[in-house]
Amino acid sequence: MLNLDFHASGRHFLQIPGPSPVPDRILRAMSLPTIDHRGPEFGALGRELLSKVRQVFKTEGPVVIYPASGTGAWEAALTNTLSPGDQVLMYETGHFATLWQKMARRLGLEPEFLSLPGDEGWRLGVQAEMIEARLKEDREHAIKAVCVVHNETSTGVTSDIAAVRRAIDAAGHPALLMVDTISGLASADYRHDEWGVDVTISGSQKGLMLPPGISFNAVSDKALSASRQAKLPKSFWAWDEIVEANKTGYWPYTPNTNLLYGLNEALDMLLGEGLDHVFARHQRWAAGVRTAVEAWGLEIQCRDPKVYSPVLTGVIMPEGVDADEVRRLIYERFDLSLGMGLGKAKGRMFRIGHLGDCNDLTLIATLGGCEAGMKLTGVPLKGSGVLAALEYFANHPLDTDR
Ligand SMILES: *Cc1c(COP(=O)(O)O)cnc(C)c1O
Repeated sequence: MLNLDFHASGRHFLQIPGPSPVPDRILRAMSLPTIDHRGPEFGALGRELLSKVRQVFKTEGPVVIYPASGTGAWEAALTNTLSPGDQVLMYETGHFATLWQKMARRLGLEPEFLSLPGDEGWRLGVQAEMIEARLKEDREHAIKAVCVVHNETSTGVTSDIAAVRRAIDAAGHPALLMVDTISGLASADYRHDEWGVDVTISGSQKGLMLPPGISFNAVSDKALSASRQAKLPKSFWAWDEIVEANKTGYWPYTPNTNLLYGLNEALDMLLGEGLDHVFARHQRWAAGVRTAVEAWGLEIQCRDPKVYSPVLTGVIMPEGVDADEVRRLIYERFDLSLGMGLGKAKGRMFRIGHLGDCNDLTLIATLGGCEAGMKLTGVPLKGSGVLAALEYFANHPLDTDR
């Protein structure tokens, strides 16, 4: 029951896999006065951040920024490149892949959803050979796009995007490759150009450490050409006018000025630290959290160690335990938010976010909240995850740690 006498002191632990905690430096940058979005200062800001943001996607091409949540950028990717009735090949990695597939159907596309039996697809990454086999059958090239999720936030499983590219090439198929890295970007290694991705979709409130409210399409030349023929209705989402206005640092409509201040600051932080260091930090946190789950004697949702997510870890509750009850107690007692099980995983697991503005001690505290909460709800634990993670962090310093 909600305890209305409860007054949180200290900081809330926002350890869901997005929105992630927003660093004070970004909050301060966003608190500056809103300026004229047609004035000269704005154009300079726009040009600067549009050039820096490409480095995070690892692309030389345009990155379109929308004042919308990630879902809007999903729609933008589909409506800019496809026509009514087009076949698209999608892959069931979890809840977010399922939602994107539903959207494709609602937009009048014909999605085909590749799935593994039972809940296997929710525990493993994309099986690229299934994509290759399906594309090889499609001799008429009726399939216009392959859509996959890079970091499936509902499960804590990543997918090998380079392998998907190789599968498309091995089939000699011209389909566009569209990738959702809404929760992967700036936490997990991602390479738009090198991996031959045509449209990359991302959002602000996960690895970029911003509040929700802006989202992205990184766009290849091939996707831009496709957008000139594509017949799905689009206006607000249309790339052409935005890309044109962006050349001078402006937008065709009022952009999200203060979130763009925040984005500029986030890019300075990430590029200043160096993306490789950012990725190493996330890998290490994820490994520490997995060590804790192992010490508890609990199961991790991801079953293939090659594709463990550096962004979040899905922790499966023993048979008969309602994961949402455990989460609720942890929230009420310790002011700690954990991710809930989504879709097929509802009530079966909770998700620990370890992305963005964290450090060893925020994660130790998070694991402490999980451990205490599980004890209080009677979840049988084999040992202390907190101690195991402390040990892991002590024995695995980052190269920059002294
Ligand atoms: C968060 C998320 C989305 C949805 O983004 P919104 O900003 O909530 O619209 C889609 N896909 C993935 C993988 C996500 O993590």
